[in-house]
Amino acid sequence: MSGLILRIAVPSPLYRTFDYLPPPGCDPAALRPGMRVRVPFGRRQVIGFLVELGTDTPLDIASLKPALAILDTEPVLPADVLVLIQWAQRYYHHPLGEVFTAALPVLLRQGEPAAHPAPAPVWRMTAAGHTALADSASLLRRAPAQWRLLDYLAHCPDGAEPETLRPVVSNSTAVLRALRDKGWAEQNAAPQVSSSAPHVSQPPPVLTLAQTEAIAAITSALDRFQVFLLEGVTGSGKTEVYLQVIEAVLAHGRQALVLTPEIGLTPQLLARFQERLPGPLAVSHSGLSDAERLKAWLLAREGRARVVVGTRSAVFAPLQAPGILIIDEEHDLSFKQQDGFRYHARDLAVIRGQQLGIPVVLGSATPALESCHNAQRCRYGLLPLPERVGGGSKPPIQILDVRRQPMREGLSQPLLERIRAHLDRNEQVLLFLNRRGFAPMLLCHECGWLSQCRHCDARMTLHLRSQRLICHHCGDQRPVDSLCPLCGSVDLRGFGQGTERLEIALRQEFPETGIARMDRDSTRRRGSLETLLAEIQAGGRRLLIGTQMLAKGHHFPDVTLVGIIDADQGLYGIDFRASERMAQLILQVAGRAGRAKKPGTVIIQTHHPDHPLLRTLVSRGYTAFAAEALAERQAALLPPFAHQALLRAEAVDPERATGFLQMALALAGPLADGLELLGPAPAPMERRAGRYRAHLLIQAIQRQVLHRFLDRWTTLLWAERTDRQVRWSLDIDPVELY
Ligand code: ADP
Ligand code: ZN
Ligand code: ZN
Repeated sequence: MSGLILRIAVPSPLYRTFDYLPPPGCDPAALRPGMRVRVPFGRRQVIGFLVELGTDTPLDIASLKPALAILDTEPVLPADVLVLIQWAQRYYHHPLGEVFTAALPVLLRQGEPAAHPAPAPVWRMTAAGHTALADSASLLRRAPAQWRLLDYLAHCPDGAEPETLRPVVSNSTAVLRALRDKGWAEQNAAPQVSSSAPHVSQPPPVLTLAQTEAIAAITSALDRFQVFLLEGVTGSGKTEVYLQVIEAVLAHGRQALVLTPEIGLTPQLLARFQERLPGPLAVSHSGLSDAERLKAWLLAREGRARVVVGTRSAVFAPLQAPGILIIDEEHDLSFKQQDGFRYHARDLAVIRGQQLGIPVVLGSATPALESCHNAQRCRYGLLPLPERVGGGSKPPIQILDVRRQPMREGLSQPLLERIRAHLDRNEQVLLFLNRRGFAPMLLCHECGWLSQCRHCDARMTLHLRSQRLICHHCGDQRPVDSLCPLCGSVDLRGFGQGTERLEIALRQEFPETGIARMDRDSTRRRGSLETLLAEIQAGGRRLLIGTQMLAKGHHFPDVTLVGIIDADQGLYGIDFRASERMAQLILQVAGRAGRAKKPGTVIIQTHHPDHPLLRTLVSRGYTAFAAEALAERQAALLPPFAHQALLRAEAVDPERATGFLQMALALAGPLADGLELLGPAPAPMERRAGRYRAHLLIQAIQRQVLHRFLDRWTTLLWAERTDRQVRWSLDIDPVELY
């Protein structure tokens, strides 16, 4: 009996590995870190990950349980991803089992084999079926369901998987059985289709000078680690740079990994990649089924997909021969996971590039101030693409002072006139308002009662179409009150602006014009976003209203006017990043306009026309804005000039949440120079979904000082028997304080 001990990370919020004995009959020589292991855990069986093989244990060896089974013959993750996971675990101070969980497709976490499943047998129509279908009329009369299914199969020469037949008729299983019994359809193995469609390479455009220089800089560094910041406005040809750099990487026999925000992963982008690059693309995002995700993951690991495109979690994608990492829209907040394992995919990509010794390209029209700062310090190579290709000029941005202006449903007279002028010229207009629903609150005009959420420090949003009040923070909803619950008055009014209200107002103002509203409510149904987009492209709808969703990814070449309905909420947010976000959003929305020949204009409605950062942004552009905003951050010693971590706690009872944080504060002991602990303080939204939330902010000028402290402190915290009523979490480099 060898004294081998398996150190296993189990998927649980526990900050340590667990020791097991090898399963009986297992060949110890075949064990490798990164293999999945089924183990008993409490009263359950779970799938854990073999992290390390050891020979000693602090526990009594006789008390160790044997693992139940080793699930893999090879590690599921390549060595470099294991190294990345371990780095991330230490940096984010997060339980290792949960980090593994984030890195693996669901099916692998559930213990499915890491191999392509055998294709499901498919249904095909037989020759007899064809004959039967020819006599359509009588079959249609006698057995309409059989007719419909047969007719469907007639259009599937390669056969159809049973799953895909379900929506065709109700009870498809029974109908298929009837067809088989009559000899009209048969089920047999699927043909092996080759997954790579024939690749017709489109000729690339003639590059601009800036593009040529950017591509040359990146391709001359393919064999080493170097981060590049590709800063270029929308339409300046960033994607073209990615494509040509990827071609160079593929020519070296390596793979490319491209990360995009969920919302930026549009069919247009994928079509462009597919057209230009050879072989199957591995695409991974949240809209895929578990099986599709596993398939993409396997294609990447086997190296059959030379290019892998995915959202946040794809930073852990296994690659057979990694050659470059590209992060598009690198400033986007969706790269930061906001719960559980709170990693930042952009930051991890930079680490991964460093570990692998390959270049990392960060692309954006409006880079995060952190990235601008790194470029200023020459840690990142700055590659500017200052001009739009094809001559489309940058739209001028105008600030519209709405103080003392009569407003109609949030729209000032000058803006309404401009909208009318553009519509009269048969052009498209885009209006941006980052609040869905009809009005952000319901107000009693008699007594001032407000539609407060029962569980949160927030108002419930009035949704007129569905006649409901919905809390956008916890999702609670109820029918709209007909009487004021306080004074019984019937005079209840929607207060403030939402996209639904804007749409109604604009329908009255421009009854002849087709209006498209794009927000989470109007695009909830599958396919509805695509339908809307198609109608917009076809010119059927010329007034476009939308939230955030409109701001990214999509191109609306006929839009010549962009209106930002309310810039004020962004200018004075509680978060020190509010103005950075606002600037990014303004430029992003502005980037939707005037992409083709027609010049565009952007109008920003605000009550603060003299806001200094807004002025700089409008008159001198993002780079100047970023420099000023960074100077403010430096003066205030805020990130990136300091490094932060946030210890959050929440509990139904507010005392308990603060009690936990007091205890954590006491555990910190005397602090090193340059390290601060601020709080406990209530979260900006103190109550959410019925729980009280508070936090402790840890801040240091030196990243090292912060992490040295966290290493020691978190060990103490994890060892502490904490109040079980309190949920707590640690957020390293938080991007939001609430
Ligand atoms: P971005 O990613 O910065 O928004 P794209 O790469 O998508 O910019 O380029 C915008 C449009 O211009 C695309 O239709 C693209 O095909 C085209 N394009 C890019 N580079 C050139 C070029 N050098 N010459 C002509 N057209 C180009
Ligand atoms: Zn009232
Ligand atoms: Zn709520």
